[in-house]
Amino acid sequence: MLGSGQLGRMFAISARRLGYRVHTYSPDRDSPTGQIADEEIDAPYEDLDRVRQFASAVDVVTFEFENVPAATAEAAAECALVRPAGEVLHITQHRLREKTFLRQHGFPVTRFERIAGEHDLRRVAPGFGPAILKTAGFGYDGKGQYRVKSVAEAEAAWDAMGQQEAVLEAVVDFEAELSVIGVRGEDGGCVFYAASANAHVNGILDVSSAPAPFDAAVARKAEEITRGLLNQLNVVGVLCVEFFLTRSGELLVNELAPRPHNSGHLTIDACITSQFEQQLRAVCGLPLGSTEMLRPAAMANLLGDVWGDGEPDWLSALALADIKLHLYGKSDARPGRKMGHFTATAATATAAEALVRKARARLR
Ligand code: AMP
Repeated sequence: MLGSGQLGRMFAISARRLGYRVHTYSPDRDSPTGQIADEEIDAPYEDLDRVRQFASAVDVVTFEFENVPAATAEAAAECALVRPAGEVLHITQHRLREKTFLRQHGFPVTRFERIAGEHDLRRVAPGFGPAILKTAGFGYDGKGQYRVKSVAEAEAAWDAMGQQEAVLEAVVDFEAELSVIGVRGEDGGCVFYAASANAHVNGILDVSSAPAPFDAAVARKAEEITRGLLNQLNVVGVLCVEFFLTRSGELLVNELAPRPHNSGHLTIDACITSQFEQQLRAVCGLPLGSTEMLRPAAMANLLGDVWGDGEPDWLSALALADIKLHLYGKSDARPGRKMGHFTATAATATAAEALVRKARARLR
C-alpha cells in the first residue's frame, strides 16, 4: 500500500481478515495503516531505490491516495504489479488533466477553463458568472479553492494561490451531490454500489447516506457513467465518481478517485462486501464480491474539531445500539482532520442519517 492513512488502514483490516500480509510505504511512522500492517516503511516517496526495494518484497502494489508522485508508481511497477496502473494516477491526481480527459471522452463535466496566466483570467473570467478557481494540481477536500464573483476577485485569488496553473470552473447550482463506487476486476467485469447522497461542509464530506433518494433513472445514469469511466481508464480496482445533480436533473462529474472513498465507508457495516475488500479482491485478481446492501445506512465523519472540548463523550454515543464507531488511530486531533466516523444502519437511509447525526451530537 502506497500511502498510510485511514483508507489504507481499512484496506489492511480487510486484507488481514482474508489472511493476507500488508506492507505500507509513506513518509510517516505509527500511521493509521502502519498500526495494522505487517511492515511499515517510512521513507520519502522520492526515494525511488527504497520504493523499488519495497515493491520487490510484495506481489502487488496499490495506493490509498492519488497524490503519490508518478515516478514513485513507475519505480514500483519495475518490481511488482501496480493496480490500478500509474496512468490512472497520472490523470486523476491533476484536476486539469482529469477534467480535460472527461471532456475529451464525452463525459458530462462542469464548464471549465485552464488558467495559466493573467491574460487567461482577463480573457475567460468575464464570461463566467460565479466561479471557483481551483489549483490544477494536488488538491482534495476543497483545499486550494477560491470562490470568486468578479474578474478582480479571480485575479486576487490567483495571486493568493501563487499564480500557479489553475482551473476556473462555473459554480453549479446543484440540487444534490452523489457518488457511485464501482469496482472493476482483472477480467474487466464491473460491480457497483448503490449511489450515496453526500453533504459537504467547508468542502469536506460531512454525511453520506445510501441508497440515495433519487429517481431510478438518475441512479442508472450515474452507474452507466461510472462503468464508462472504469472501462475508459482500464481500472483494475475501485473507482469513486462524485457527481453534481443539477436542478434540471442533469448529472455532471465533479471528481474521480481511483481508490476507496469516504462516501463508501458505510459499505463496511451495510454491504455484503465492503469497498476495501473489493479493492483487495480486484488488485489480487480474486472474484469480486456482492455489493448488495443488507440495510440502508448513513455515515458521519468525525473531524478533529470534535475534540475541541477534550475527549469526546464516546459512551453516550455508543449507548445508541445501532451506531458503529470507527477510529483511525490518529493521536493528533487537528481541526479539519479526519479522525474517524460513525455508521448507522436503519429501516431507511433517512432514519440512519438522523441516527448518525444524533450520535455525533452526543459527543460534546
Ligand atoms: P472538490 O474538492 O472539487 O470535490 O470540491 C469539494 C466540494 O466543494 C464539492 O463536493 C462541492 O460541495 C463544492 N464544489 C466544488 N466545485 C463546485 C462547483 N463547481 N460548484 C458548486 N460547488 C462546488
